[in-house]
Amino acid sequence: MAHILVVEDESAIAELIALNLRHAGHEAVTAIDGESALEAVRERLPDLVVLDWMLPGTTGILLARQWRAEARTKTLPILMLTARADERDLVHGLDAGADDYLTKPFSTAELLARVRALLRRRSPQTSDQPVAVGELALDPATMRVTVAGSEVKLGPTEFRLLRFLLAHPERVHSRSHLLDRVWGDHVFIEERTVDVHIKRLREALGAAAAMVETVRGAGYRLTQSVSATNRA
Ligand code: CA
Repeated sequence: MAHILVVEDESAIAELIALNLRHAGHEAVTAIDGESALEAVRERLPDLVVLDWMLPGTTGILLARQWRAEARTKTLPILMLTARADERDLVHGLDAGADDYLTKPFSTAELLARVRALLRRRSPQTSDQPVAVGELALDPATMRVTVAGSEVKLGPTEFRLLRFLLAHPERVHSRSHLLDRVWGDHVFIEERTVDVHIKRLREALGAAAAMVETVRGAGYRLTQSVSATNRA
């Protein structure tokens, strides 16, 4: 399940897309202009944005450029919608930072297939496929977590945190980024909340606790190659 923002000024189309995304199991919100789109992303970082090219007073291109220019939204997956089939425009859209492109009119099946492909590529933490790093495995469908085959019990927040870390192994995530991606709130929740849940996660993981590494001054990382200092 992904949190998806649909930016489209034609409300009937926006609602139809949102409805189809919800039917596919996602959480969809809509924005009808550039300002409300920027506001929505400021409030909660989506896993994907469906972005219409033509918007009142602005364009999807300008919004995409703006998001690409900021560290927090730099890698935001963007699926651009356009009524234009012109190849030059397509290049323009992809240059501005859209990850994929869909020309109107499109079928629901096509939209959902593109969304699925883009999420798989760019937001692996939203996948329902089992994921494993070393002896640590998590199955989103059954909500089961195992260490070397033995099941461990996690609270809901620890589960989502581990799911995100497992989907992006070996990468360092700042506390602020984790709040954004796991809690969906980087403004009102304090960063030390992350530390509290990392501690609980490590306690629950037992033998695999050291795989959740603290990277001093940077944040946390899930790693397979546990260093000697971390193991102690
Ligand atoms: Ca439009």
